[in-house]
Amino acid sequence: MFESLGNKLQDILDRVGKERQLTEAQVKAAMREIRMALLEADVNFGVAKDFVARVSEKAVGQSVEGSLTAGQTVVKLVHDELIETLGGKTIQPELKTEGNVWFMVGLQGAGKTTSTGKLAAHYKSKGRRVLLVAADTQRPAARDQLEVLAKQVGVPVLKVADGESPAETKRRVDDHLKTDFRDLVIVDTAGRLQIDEALMDQLADLQRVMQPTESLLVVDAMTGQEALNVAQTFDQRVNVTGLIITKMDGDARGGAALSARSVTGKPIYFAGTSEKIAGLDAFHPDRVAGRILGMGDVLGLIERAQQADLKAMEVKKPGDFDLEDLLLQLRQIRKMGPLGDLLKLIPGMSRALPEGFNIDEAQLQRIDAMISSMTVKERRNPKIIDGRRRKRIAAGSGHSVQDINKLLKMHEQMKDMMKMLQRMSGPGAKGMKPP
Ligand code: GDP
Repeated sequence: MFESLGNKLQDILDRVGKERQLTEAQVKAAMREIRMALLEADVNFGVAKDFVARVSEKAVGQSVEGSLTAGQTVVKLVHDELIETLGGKTIQPELKTEGNVWFMVGLQGAGKTTSTGKLAAHYKSKGRRVLLVAADTQRPAARDQLEVLAKQVGVPVLKVADGESPAETKRRVDDHLKTDFRDLVIVDTAGRLQIDEALMDQLADLQRVMQPTESLLVVDAMTGQEALNVAQTFDQRVNVTGLIITKMDGDARGGAALSARSVTGKPIYFAGTSEKIAGLDAFHPDRVAGRILGMGDVLGLIERAQQADLKAMEVKKPGDFDLEDLLLQLRQIRKMGPLGDLLKLIPGMSRALPEGFNIDEAQLQRIDAMISSMTVKERRNPKIIDGRRRKRIAAGSGHSVQDINKLLKMHEQMKDMMKMLQRMSGPGAKGMKPP
């Protein structure tokens, strides 16, 4: 998500230029554009205005730091403020040793039931004893859906009956806990299609009776502007304690997370990243801010590489990036899953790749074949690959000389890009380094 906003900000800040000093006029122009970009990314107007005001205040009169350019200084300020607005650091809900009761609240379709299942799996894996309560009597299939998820995760579920009173629900939960000790009860409450007073009253009643220790508002990242109203209303009515932003894997724009967090001031605990049970991550404001600025989810990339135990993915000095490294990386990448997804995690890639870009498996195999037909000397020093060698490699790998030319050109471009990225995140640009 957030790519559109990232691109936009990057374009604007390229224009701020390389001057050493930030003038008021420059800051004003950049901020106007940033506000526009935020609005286009579906950030609520008031939130965007406040955000820009805060950055402006810090930017005017700010001397350009160290070896940063004026443009980079603004990026750093925007980046830092984005992190701050998104909550600063990663925060997780507090858990007592027992008696934890969490309410899942939100609009219908936001991903409440799915997130309930995900939380159950997450906390079960941490050794918690979870009980799920299917209290979404509003959406017809919700209770059955939760039952299926509970089975999948391996936790018990208690289904609330139509028309059951809050007192009755509480009694049933208490009864269950007497015979089957559980330290975390997660209640999937009735979803609303839109803000609905009667249903909100019902939810408030259930809350009064059950006294949840957390009320987690589930917000769909795709809802943009609407996220602010939803978050505000739920917070006023049922005192939200934390947020879960779902569908962060979609191509939603950045607005929802920023707006919901800003208006409630409540921490975003988790991000939903797929429809699957495992698709729940702790929310990392620094990573998301990096993505907003188009710097890529570098930590996400490293984590995936570590998961796959891929020491070879360690980036070398860009000047040393030879064809052997390219081959090694391509082979590792092929093991790591859908290439399009992965490439988007590389800093700058989301900007460099054309819309709808995808390298297919066959193409990777072709590149592999071409590099495999080179001698070690050629791979380490592609400069020596002259016309004669190109012909030999082409024949050896079953390709045309033109294909070899294209590959060598691509390698040169990748090398240039890596150099550029290193300059951007090098020691002189401390604040710009991905977190
Ligand atoms: P509820 O009405 O709030 O309980 O919504 P559901 O849990 O039924 O979710 C609505 C739809 O969103 C379902 O199709 C889910 O599979 C999907 N969904 C929920 N969370 C995510 C997520 O993080 N990523 C994606 N891609 N889909 C999600």
